[in-house]
Amino acid sequence: MGSFELISKHGDHEEVVFCHDKSVGLKAIIAIHNTALGPALGGTRMWNYKTEEEALIDVLRLSKGMTYKAAAAGLNLGGGKAVVIGDSKTQKTEGLFRAFGQFVNSLNGKYITAEDVGTGEQDMEYIYMETPWVTGIPKDFGGSGDPSPYTAHGVLMGIKAAVKEKLKTDSLKGLRIAVQGLGNVGTHLVRYLVKESATVIVADIDEVKVKRMADELKVQTVSPDQITAQECEVLSPCALGAVVNDQSISKLKCQVIAGGANNQLGESKHGDQLRELGILYAPDYVVNAGGLMNVFVELEGYSPERAFEKTRRVYDNCMRVFDIAKRDNVSTNQAADRLAEERIRTVGALRQRHQGKTSRAFTTLREVNNR
Ligand code: NAD
Repeated sequence: MGSFELISKHGDHEEVVFCHDKSVGLKAIIAIHNTALGPALGGTRMWNYKTEEEALIDVLRLSKGMTYKAAAAGLNLGGGKAVVIGDSKTQKTEGLFRAFGQFVNSLNGKYITAEDVGTGEQDMEYIYMETPWVTGIPKDFGGSGDPSPYTAHGVLMGIKAAVKEKLKTDSLKGLRIAVQGLGNVGTHLVRYLVKESATVIVADIDEVKVKRMADELKVQTVSPDQITAQECEVLSPCALGAVVNDQSISKLKCQVIAGGANNQLGESKHGDQLRELGILYAPDYVVNAGGLMNVFVELEGYSPERAFEKTRRVYDNCMRVFDIAKRDNVSTNQAADRLAEERIRTVGALRQRHQGKTSRAFTTLREVNNR
């Protein structure tokens, strides 16, 4: 299939930019899905794609996901993403990322980049040498650093909202919460949960991480293949995607699913099945938006306190999703999409009607903060 056919098949993207610089071996694609609510923000992924078609499909899919995530989070951001084709372990150079930074700069702030799989702070620093339109830069440059504590705090808020909705309680005390994955997000989340006096059960394929957590805090440990089938109030996937799939769904013994991992449902039909089973699913991209909220604050002039405060909004956002699910009699994953689409429609149209009057561009915010 040709590139234009692929682009029209995978959503109605506003702009797709192919970036090529032979001198440094740059092959990258920037996809801007939607800027109705604000500039398109989304990370740059570096991946050894087997074909250019695979890279194009990935960037189209990921950028659309960012539109929904930012809209449901209540942020004035659109959705975008970039992919750099190459091996992140062997093919990274200063020239590569500076050349890519020039392409980002040529979009004049319509697309703002950040870290993603295969890219890190050093790469963002190189991009920053060519353009101001980058977040996730080192703290010395006014950046926000590691987003995972903020993501984890948002996940805690998502868990609290879902517990309130399903179990009608404000407290996590004594609730059994099973956390899959003790990486950046999972580790911070477990610490928050223990502080809330929850009974935490953990698993990771990395035994060292499990032992470290068990030594640090009083948590129960189970093997990775048992974690999703734990008898518990909350299952919190913080490792992989597609945790809820045809095989696992009948074994679930939880009342709520709320976690940090991306794409937790194998397919969207699994959202309907969870609903039929009476398991409340707090949609992944609403629950794990704390990291995005954190980089958004970077655009306004970073403050860790403000970023932390913003992540509390995940609670209200989840509640809105649950209300829409009840209102429209649909699964919560469909409700999350509706929340995002309704905001894009109403606020997006308002911004268009009052362009330059009611909408504050980030450039304005930056100027204000730099005074
Ligand atoms: P990470 O790589 O630091 O941690 C993932 C952990 O999961 C690792 O410790 C790994 O050993 C473990 N794991 C892998 N397979 C497992 C299995 N089968 N059973 C149990 N454990 C398993 O990643 P992270 O940054 O903590 O992110 C976790 C998830 O959250 C990912 O899906 C990521 O895309 C998503 N997410 C992260 C952020 C963030 O701020 N880091 C933001 C949004 C979404």
